[in-house]
Amino acid sequence: MRPDQPALHIFCTPFFQAPSHPVDDEQPLKWRRTIRGVTQVAVTLLFSVVLSARSVPIQQRPQGTETKSAQSKEFSAELLKQLADIRDASLADNYAYQQVAHITENIGPRLTGSAQAVEASKYVADELQKLGLDVKLEEVRVPHWTRGVESAELVDFAGHVANTAQKVVLTALGGSSATTAEGLTAEVLVVRNFDQLNGLSRSQVAGKIVLYNYPFDERKAQAGRALDAYGEAVVYRAMGPRTAAQLGAVAALIRSVGGADYRLPHTGYSAPAMIPAAAVTGEDADLIAHLATQGAVRMHLTLTPQNLPETVGYNVVADLKGSEHPEQVVVVSGHLDSWDLGTGALDDAAGVAMAMHTVHVLQELHLRPKRTIRVIAWMDEESGGRGRDAYTTAHKSEFGDHVAAIESDLGAAHPLGFDAKISATAAEMLQPVREILVSFGANLLQVVPFAPGADLAGMANAGVPTLGVLQDGRTYFNYHHTAADTLDKVNPQELRENATAMAVMAYALANTPNPLPR
Ligand SMILES: [Zn+2]
Repeated sequence: MRPDQPALHIFCTPFFQAPSHPVDDEQPLKWRRTIRGVTQVAVTLLFSVVLSARSVPIQQRPQGTETKSAQSKEFSAELLKQLADIRDASLADNYAYQQVAHITENIGPRLTGSAQAVEASKYVADELQKLGLDVKLEEVRVPHWTRGVESAELVDFAGHVANTAQKVVLTALGGSSATTAEGLTAEVLVVRNFDQLNGLSRSQVAGKIVLYNYPFDERKAQAGRALDAYGEAVVYRAMGPRTAAQLGAVAALIRSVGGADYRLPHTGYSAPAMIPAAAVTGEDADLIAHLATQGAVRMHLTLTPQNLPETVGYNVVADLKGSEHPEQVVVVSGHLDSWDLGTGALDDAAGVAMAMHTVHVLQELHLRPKRTIRVIAWMDEESGGRGRDAYTTAHKSEFGDHVAAIESDLGAAHPLGFDAKISATAAEMLQPVREILVSFGANLLQVVPFAPGADLAGMANAGVPTLGVLQDGRTYFNYHHTAADTLDKVNPQELRENATAMAVMAYALANTPNPLPR
């Protein structure tokens, strides 16, 4: 995806897609200009245009006779009965929760390139084989970054008591370079945003640790616009370190991108900058910013992550073969890799479990789809999307027969419905599915202009209709990418609702006489 067309699905990773290869010389000039020179107003505008465009609800308008008859042609009484049966059975079935529990507690965090990530792929493949699916582990070359020591303290500032230090809570950003084992000591330069940094001369920045103190807008999150809040702030995580490095900074810090206020730092992907890069907690960003108004603040910073040679990971690709059109495919998916601080329960063991649950419920009910339902557990959503890229390369020639693709990657809170990059005709055709989902409130269908799932981008770009489960995201960014993304944050009832929304939608897409129009 071109970086000047930010991915909408920015729940866990980059606001835009990370390039698959060393990026320094591959960034289009336009993006460089955007980052270095654009005003904050323009940045805000860009995101508000993009993000507000994501909310175009299909109107609940009276349907003409023509639409009604088109819908009843696609949704026979038998199909509607099956969809209701799937809904009712699924809402009472704890399979998805059991899967999230195993993936998070028994396997643990699944950082791309780690042994747990590989084991998780094998586990999901085995489970899907037990369900009778035709399973493949498709190899993906993945980055391999490991977290090391991460510590920081303020060693000099106004009013500093001799021979003491103020601890700062931080965590390295994915892909960060290391300091020496002894760490480095430098003055912290606090800036609010890119504009302020770019207004400084190189000599004012060189040799310093730049801290971007750009706040996550918790009020937006609480108003149900968490993705907008995330989008506005996450550019500093994605591009801040590189921008600071270009001006000679020795390290870069960002204020954590999230709403947590228990002094939890929030990690995530950052474009390679060749300098150490970390996220400090909101509380520590406030501390440093306040002290900096009173005089110079010096920090001792130690980060010892390692960028190791690329290694091998796997996408799990598992088919429940269609009885009438096995070559036509409906994808259900989530991503199996996670960050390493928590156990990746919300992000995104939940999404993988929903996809597994979809085929589990159909097998329980002895319902065979007419088209193939393909479960994909994606690898490397968090560190660059290599799994998406590998699948796109390997399967592009089949995308004409990919009828639709669904991903869930916004946690496991109550589902409101779906974001969908589909045509207006397709949205109208899906009206009967919304009526099945209304009983538990998962009946929104919002047409959006970008792939509603980072792993779906390759398919969406090829014209495949794509859908993302749309959860209540108000608390998601309190936990996401922190040590608190653990199993207890998954509400079993809400997870069942999510899995049900995915299962009902997938079976509908797989069983209408005609495929969803493009
Ligand atoms: Zn995610």
